[in-house]
Amino acid sequence: MGHKRTRARLLAVFILTAAGSAVAQEKHLIDPTPPGSLNPEPLPPLQNPDAPSTPAKELFARKSTPFPGPSRSIGGYFDGCLAGGVPLPITGPTWQVMRLSRNRNWGNPQLVRFIERFAENAKKVGWSGLLVGDMSQPRGGPMLGDHASHQIGLDVDIWFTPMPDHVQSREEREFGSATDVVAPDLLDVDPEVWTHRYTELIRAAAQDPAVTRILVNAAIKKALCREAGADRVWLFKVRPWYGHAEHFHVQIACPAGSAECKPQPPPRLSDGCGQELDFWFKESTLHPPPPKPKPALTLAGLPPACEQIVKAP
Ligand SMILES: [Zn+2]
Repeated sequence: MGHKRTRARLLAVFILTAAGSAVAQEKHLIDPTPPGSLNPEPLPPLQNPDAPSTPAKELFARKSTPFPGPSRSIGGYFDGCLAGGVPLPITGPTWQVMRLSRNRNWGNPQLVRFIERFAENAKKVGWSGLLVGDMSQPRGGPMLGDHASHQIGLDVDIWFTPMPDHVQSREEREFGSATDVVAPDLLDVDPEVWTHRYTELIRAAAQDPAVTRILVNAAIKKALCREAGADRVWLFKVRPWYGHAEHFHVQIACPAGSAECKPQPPPRLSDGCGQELDFWFKESTLHPPPPKPKPALTLAGLPPACEQIVKAP
């Protein structure tokens, strides 16, 4: 199953991209990290940017710089934007940013601090570094593609692939494939890939006080439930979701004093194991019908401040 392991590095990926992404879609509905381009073209200008029906994602995707000034996470994780966004450096001592063409390594400074802190804590459980996927766009907001959240600079996707021992080239970051840790039947983790180190990695993230919620594939949650041992308090933050087989999604809390940030209700204080997982392994959940297309969010669906933020030069 050549498509399944990280092993596919540069050359293989060039050759397999088309076939590989088709398989990935069949398996997990969407490929969250499709390769981009080494020379991304700017998006063409919109015909009618001021029309009220213009999808907000089209406006936010055309902003390649942050809105200046103090950092503000405005609105909700699924309907908001970001002012004063800061970039995570693409190469740090314990992390490397992937898919640079996406320009999504932006966040609230609290998110950047979390990633730095988490990467240090991950070292203590055997991870010499993290590969960082999408954070937010420079001004946050909805994105072209499949994310619904990641809008206010407080979400980050971390790849399950361990960081290589060298600073990766742009090519490697753009075309390298993420490690899929879920078995092909989706019922459990893949024993050929999964190790207890993954449990320790996710535990380290969940134990960070800033973290409110982590999304993983249900097969991964099942493995965490099995491997957590006596220390299970952190498990309540780790929730099953579709996809999330090659990366996990970490959400941090609204920073203290950010009155414009709309918190999500916290997850229930149960470990979420056992029968609570049954829903996720029903045939209709494992292989759901294609989702009905939802009308795109427009500026009217975002806090008023986001209009000024996305329309500023
Ligand atoms: Zn995510």
